[in-house]
Amino acid sequence: MSSPDPDSWVVHKFGGSSVADAACFARVAAIVESQPGRRLAVVLSACKGVTDALLQLVNSAERQDESWRAALQALRERHATIAAALLPAALVQEYLAEFDRDAADLDSVLRTTQVMRTGGLHVRDRVSGYGEIWSTRLFWRYLQQRGQRRDIHWIDARTCVIAEWGPLGPGIQWPVSSERLHKLLPPAAATLIVTGYIASDPAGIQTTLGRNGSDFSASIFAALLSAAEIHIWTDVDGVLSADPRRVPDARVISALSYNEAMELAYFGAKVIHPQTMAPAVGRDIPIWIRNTFAPEKPGTLICAHPNSDQPVKGITSIDEVALVNIEGAGMIGVPGTAHRLFGAL
Ligand code: ADP
Ligand code: ASP
Ligand code: MG
Repeated sequence: MSSPDPDSWVVHKFGGSSVADAACFARVAAIVESQPGRRLAVVLSACKGVTDALLQLVNSAERQDESWRAALQALRERHATIAAALLPAALVQEYLAEFDRDAADLDSVLRTTQVMRTGGLHVRDRVSGYGEIWSTRLFWRYLQQRGQRRDIHWIDARTCVIAEWGPLGPGIQWPVSSERLHKLLPPAAATLIVTGYIASDPAGIQTTLGRNGSDFSASIFAALLSAAEIHIWTDVDGVLSADPRRVPDARVISALSYNEAMELAYFGAKVIHPQTMAPAVGRDIPIWIRNTFAPEKPGTLICAHPNSDQPVKGITSIDEVALVNIEGAGMIGVPGTAHRLFGAL
């Protein structure tokens, strides 16, 4: 693995499975502290399963099912347990006081949802984004408490990443995002703890980068910081030649081009969000996919010109896809048929 200039930014992203419980937070902190660079941006996902649980709160409220109250309490318990295992009592109190302010907001949103019987997109975006706020606030305090790195700053990506959703997914407004982030940046060496997944739209309303979007957050921050490298830490040894849940003896691919990685991701390799590669390609930033639970392993390198002679890199699959075959005389020479057909689909 290369050693970038110690003054360059390096972005490390840890997925939900890497921050599932207190032992995971300790593992992630040790990885962060072992990094040689002086400028690190650490992007975190929500703790494993939390985004799903938050979306479930909205579903329950829409169904008039009061169980969202107990489920919200269970989310508090889960974060309180991790905080209690990692932080001294005063910091646990501080963390939970912030959590309770969020929970009060959530309570209002969910009560309204229950009355209205519908949440809508803005409500889902707002509610599902709390997981990243909770995981990063906890990790930020924990890393400070360990005392190995100095100048640790919490960055709420909603204040600097501006994304507008279009038919092709979230589009980043680069100039304004860059201007906002650079206003927040400390001048010298620093460790930034950054919320993955969330952003704001141009009107200032909270949005997300889509499910699994923290990978994309990592490359957005890498581009904004002109980072030297991106490391995506997950729960497998790298990009594998097939989905390991279907093919247990799938092998790690040592190197992939940006195009190959994009293709695998678009066609179902869940290990990386398909939009992650785009900000890295233009700036030639290498992306490493690595295992949080086996940090000594080399992982997969995704870059412009990988050193590999493997013609076939991997196989992917997508579930629940239907092939619709439509035929008939009405299709021949009738203008607008295809338009109406695709419109209906
Ligand atoms: P994270 O929580 O780190 O974001 P994800 O669950 O989003 O992790 O992605 C990692 C998972 O992707 C792995 O646990 C694995 O089951 C799955 N996966 C599917 N296809 C592949 C593949 N080709 N290579 C590696 N992992 C894959
Ligand atoms: N927490 C978000 C999700 O579960 C984003 C991410 O993990 O990448 O989709
Ligand atoms: Mg993921």
